[in-house]
Amino acid sequence: MITDIDGLPPILKSSITAEEAAYLETLRRRKGFPFGVTAYFASLAGANQDDPIRRQFFPDPREALADPFALDDPLGEAVYRAAPRLTHQYRDRALILAGGACPGYCRHCFRRLWMARAQNFIDAETLTPILGYLKEHSEIREVLVSGGDPLTASDEALAWLFGELRAARPGLLLRLCTRAPITDPYRLTPRFIELLQAYRPVRMAVHINHPRELAEPARKALGECAQAGIPVHVQTVLLRGVNDNAEILGDLFRECLDLGLSPYYLFQLDLAFGTAHFRVPLEEGLNLYRDLGRRVSGLALPRYAVDLPGGGGKLILHGGVIAGAHDSPRGAVYMLKAPDGRLWAYPQ
Ligand code: SF4
Repeated sequence: MITDIDGLPPILKSSITAEEAAYLETLRRRKGFPFGVTAYFASLAGANQDDPIRRQFFPDPREALADPFALDDPLGEAVYRAAPRLTHQYRDRALILAGGACPGYCRHCFRRLWMARAQNFIDAETLTPILGYLKEHSEIREVLVSGGDPLTASDEALAWLFGELRAARPGLLLRLCTRAPITDPYRLTPRFIELLQAYRPVRMAVHINHPRELAEPARKALGECAQAGIPVHVQTVLLRGVNDNAEILGDLFRECLDLGLSPYYLFQLDLAFGTAHFRVPLEEGLNLYRDLGRRVSGLALPRYAVDLPGGGGKLILHGGVIAGAHDSPRGAVYMLKAPDGRLWAYPQ
């Protein structure tokens, strides 16, 4: 992983402004959310500051701007913590934070604070109470293995984790949440794909934001997963200056479909610190989604959703979800109506 400006390809290195370099230095001094990108992913980026790949991995000084809506834990995962590294928010699903490393760090990441604390891959001591919880809670049918990116662990470590989960709950569906097929596609070796097959039922949820991320190595890795019988679901984050355009999103989701991947969610960006410059206003997002719906088939259309801030859960966004708007002490907010009728404030 490239972690400093000198490691970048020459064309990118020469594009870094003095302001960007100074901000990177500040981040490093304060031990903030780290900068890191694989040489592979950096090679996909253009030298222009507005390049959609570059924007996703190179720290932007705007991350330091004050943001009255930002939260330490935007999804409110701490509210649903069942054990260290285990979140049980939805009845039949649980989330394990397997590790805190990623092959590269996305500047829009909502778990940035967790990862800034450099978590190791989960060990037996932490996993034991999680296995106990899963045994006691038979209503849990699916475990999301996330992080960080679990694919930063070795095949042996993943085989150990999957084996322990399988032994505790034989029928459990394992959902592997990863961006590695995009940022580090060579990680998906034939041996790794065999490992996934050995622990089926396994599905992958892959984070993909822009059609240019589907370069040949990524297409090959993802196509091989699909052919090996590992269903791949695509999760996309709506990002200002990256993919806030119905034509770009249409291209992305059509290409995913061609590769045998299922567009699953288009997420409204979570309210994490340092990400306000990526935010697309909700009304604009709804208009864009309507436009997208006119361009692609239903098979290529993900659900547009938001994780309600502070633990309100996932809300599918559609016409009618906005129940009103008003000014709050922090700024203008929409009131969003959750399926249970509760109202949640969300910044305009
Ligand atoms: S790969 Fe996922 S967990 Fe890692 S930095 Fe990107 S968004 Fe965050």
